[in-house]
Amino acid sequence: MSAAFDRVVVLDFEATCQPGVPPSPQEVIEFPSVLVSLRDRAVLDSFGTFVRPVHHPALSAFCTELTTIRQEDVDAAPVFADVLAAHRAWLEGHDLFDSQGRERFAFVTCGDWDLQTMLPVQCAASGIPIDALPRAYRRWINIKKVFLDAMKKAKTTGMPAMLQALGLDLEGTHHRGIDDCHNIARLALALADRGARFELTGKLAASHYPELPLELQWGDRRERVFLKKRHLATLLGLASGLFRTRIVRALGPDGAAIEDDDPLAELPADARVRVFSARDPST
Ligand code: AMP
Ligand code: MG
Ligand code: MG
Repeated sequence: MSAAFDRVVVLDFEATCQPGVPPSPQEVIEFPSVLVSLRDRAVLDSFGTFVRPVHHPALSAFCTELTTIRQEDVDAAPVFADVLAAHRAWLEGHDLFDSQGRERFAFVTCGDWDLQTMLPVQCAASGIPIDALPRAYRRWINIKKVFLDAMKKAKTTGMPAMLQALGLDLEGTHHRGIDDCHNIARLALALADRGARFELTGKLAASHYPELPLELQWGDRRERVFLKKRHLATLLGLASGLFRTRIVRALGPDGAAIEDDDPLAELPADARVRVFSARDPST
């Protein structure tokens, strides 16, 4: 069974939009979070700020109508890179990372869009490599899945319907990020009361990560490579071609066997990966 989290950080981006297809690149205009202790059943703190879009600085009337966020709100706001830095500092201030920098919390979002789509798009638009962020930003708990599980339902619904199903009123303005966060936090607490487990439900797909520079070592031969896709099969194929032998195993810089795509997603740039053919001893 995967780990359940005692503390979660609800995150709900608002972004530039128009009817139909969003502007490209779509940009975050509100970056809010609410820190929740599921164990103590309490909201501990909140973070929130508007963000100034730079590629399409003018908000559509549709966007202001949907979110209530006005042009002057974003004009006066910091750009995404600065808000992201402030958000990270806020997380750190709540002791949400251990001494090795590993997260002690998980993000909770309503749907997969915030961390699967919007954050990678925004990071690309801001020139921030997504793998330079703590990995907590690349994995999440979709509260819709927690809801379906805990309520034994089969069909996914939106936030207002989930609130209603739990006998809760929607507070504040739907599609204002900070209000959405508070409502999602109330959902999370109500689901925790019903015994729901908060385990990761999603993580960023390998295709969203930038190319990874690595040093491959087979025996005493070393080669610098760029791993285009963070798939173990891709790595083994690349190494096999390079060393002209069938490479079947790989060891990460920590000495642990790389057995699936997960450790590749989180390898630092320029890490050394030792590889082995079927006939090599593996240590
Ligand atoms: P939400 O968290 O549901 O408030 O939505 C997040 C973002 O998705 C909004 O800030 C919009 O950019 C976009 N969005 C949500 N609903 C719509 C809609 N009906 N039409 C176009 N964009 C939308
Ligand atoms: Mg949302
Ligand atoms: Mg929202």
